Amino acid sequence: MPEFKNCIKKIAIMKPSIVVIGSSNTDMVIKTEHLPAPGETILGGTFFMNAGGKGANQAVAAARLNGQVTFITKIGDDVFGKKSIQLYNDEGIDTSYISTDKNLPSGVALITVDASGENCIVVASGANAALNLTDINSAETVLGKASIILVQLEIPLSTVKYIAELAAKNNIQLILNPAPACSLPDDLLNAVSIITPNKKEAEMLTGCNITDINTAKQAAKILAGKGIKIVIITLGAEGALILRDGNFTVVPALSVSAVDTTAAGDIFNGALAVAISEQQNIIEAVQFANHAAAISVTKLGAQASAPYRNEVDTLMNSVT
Ligand code: ADP
Repeated sequence: MPEFKNCIKKIAIMKPSIVVIGSSNTDMVIKTEHLPAPGETILGGTFFMNAGGKGANQAVAAARLNGQVTFITKIGDDVFGKKSIQLYNDEGIDTSYISTDKNLPSGVALITVDASGENCIVVASGANAALNLTDINSAETVLGKASIILVQLEIPLSTVKYIAELAAKNNIQLILNPAPACSLPDDLLNAVSIITPNKKEAEMLTGCNITDINTAKQAAKILAGKGIKIVIITLGAEGALILRDGNFTVVPALSVSAVDTTAAGDIFNGALAVAISEQQNIIEAVQFANHAAAISVTKLGAQASAPYRNEVDTLMNSVT
């Protein structure tokens, strides 16, 4: 009988699970006055190093916002990889499905951030580029139970395609954050439930030149035409444009003074996944994501800038 009671208690507190599949990197960041031009060498400010990668950033963002997160990634058999697993565990993320590649190093990103918060990034993917179908199949149990899957493009496209097909087949909502910018095949786009490009990524996917809301709407229409149910184009300081069932909604960003926009999109996506897993409607979910991302741009770093749930709730209560 006590066992039965425990089981009921477990079910009652079990939250819908979010599976984030993507890259894990170590970010090496230098703050500068301006970004160097090709061939230019400049003296930068402080150097700091922290865990990054779009997948990891989004997993950490979702976990800090109270999501129940499993992170699927691949690391190298090195100190960076080991350290990152330790960090994900500390964030309360399930790391049981992270695999290790014996031959490739863990991913690394070199990031420069200028005085206005603009950034410039070079990524050496390492083991991330070896996350394959076998790794995804090994996570079959957790994927089958997922309420939402969140994936980006810092892992092989063939793996992303496989995940999208798996999600569609099992009727699991899939958010594709199509970053970094890349053109994608129609059959992949057709299997996606929600797509979240920023302006540059939406331009790359559609061929539209996005200069204002109207051109963003044209790009969103093209993406919806590929069979994607919900299109969300993030517009930086202007917020985000949603297209669902032929209806457009612009959800404005919060007015904050930006210090570092690195990972704004990642925090937005992690927060969006949490809000959707909590059954918030799409406009509420984007509002929540805008609030989380606004807090993140006021802080330096990628995962370091991911806010906790109480910070977002406090901000939401103070501005509504
Ligand atoms: P990415 O970081 O992928 O380039 P965006 O620049 O579109 O993506 O930013 C993602 C989200 O972060 C925006 O939709 C917005 O909610 C928030 N955001 C980005 N920049 C700012 C800013 N300067 N002020 C407030 N919110 C911002």
